[in-house]
Amino acid sequence: MTQTDTAMRKGAKGETLLTLDNVSISYPVFGGIFQRQIGEVKAVQQVSLEIKPGETLGLVGESGCGKTTIGKGVLGLVPVKGGQIFFKNGRIDQGLTQKDRQKIQMVFQDPDASLNPRMKIVDIIGEPLRNLMGMSKKLEIRREVLDLLEQVSLKREHLDRFPHEFSGGQKQRIVIARALACNPDVIVLDEPTSALDVSVQSQILNLLEELQKEFDLAYLFITHDLSVIHHVGSSVAVMYLGHIVEKGNIADIFYNPKHPYTQALLSARPAVNAEEKQKQIILTGEVPSPVNPPSGCAFHPRCFSRTSDLPCDIDTPQLIKLSDTHEVACHLYHEGK
Ligand code: SF4
Repeated sequence: MTQTDTAMRKGAKGETLLTLDNVSISYPVFGGIFQRQIGEVKAVQQVSLEIKPGETLGLVGESGCGKTTIGKGVLGLVPVKGGQIFFKNGRIDQGLTQKDRQKIQMVFQDPDASLNPRMKIVDIIGEPLRNLMGMSKKLEIRREVLDLLEQVSLKREHLDRFPHEFSGGQKQRIVIARALACNPDVIVLDEPTSALDVSVQSQILNLLEELQKEFDLAYLFITHDLSVIHHVGSSVAVMYLGHIVEKGNIADIFYNPKHPYTQALLSARPAVNAEEKQKQIILTGEVPSPVNPPSGCAFHPRCFSRTSDLPCDIDTPQLIKLSDTHEVACHLYHEGK
């Protein structure tokens, strides 16, 4: 069965593949001489998201905002404390079946950390074919690995080489080929281009776009780089200190951002001219600790739009709909304001 056959067998357009419903994830903090639990890091709080086939949902925010934790929660690598995660119609927050593991794959930031330096490429990409797809014949695996290498523009002569013989971009292609080995429906991409040179970044982004079109893949694309999402995204969720503060399609977020934090993130992108440089919003203060987050709106100690009549330091704003595609969590947009 080819990957194209699999793509054709996938559900109809519009079917939701991955649903996060009010998901919360926290980590215990231990301390003292007896290393008892003395607190918890609220890494993700009441996050709801949906991804359909062929879509790229960009999850953006500063480092430590909880975006990677969401990816790990989807893959069952960290326990989900509250809410539910569904893959198609099955719940996966209590554990993934072998079939779910085939269908949801992950690509990490650093390809070096993902590839065993002692294994040949044929064995690295062949591993999921053996372990998850039940293939055992050497020749059959070799043929399938060659097919996958060609999908990511690598060649037959690369089959028997070791990871150290490849450049950073080629290594990330190998990681992507391994993720494709199980005919996935969803790929969680955790900063897949951040460790690469700028010229190589665009090649990998173009490859991901081509593969998405060919196999109708859904991407959960985790990044701190808004320009990357502008290039490849269908929709965007902006995170701050474990909360989604704004969600929308590309036009909503990039051309009509409403949350002050989204506005600051967008303005922090490299300016192309002096006028843009003048408009830059410099956020003051540090990102607060998720162990002891601020009361009310978590962004209120750094917010430049807050006014004294708003209950920003008391009430946590909930996401409200501004349109069919655009939601924001900020008191500025709550009724009567
Ligand atoms: Fe700023 Fe208040 Fe909106 Fe939070 S709720 S982003 S503090 S205006």
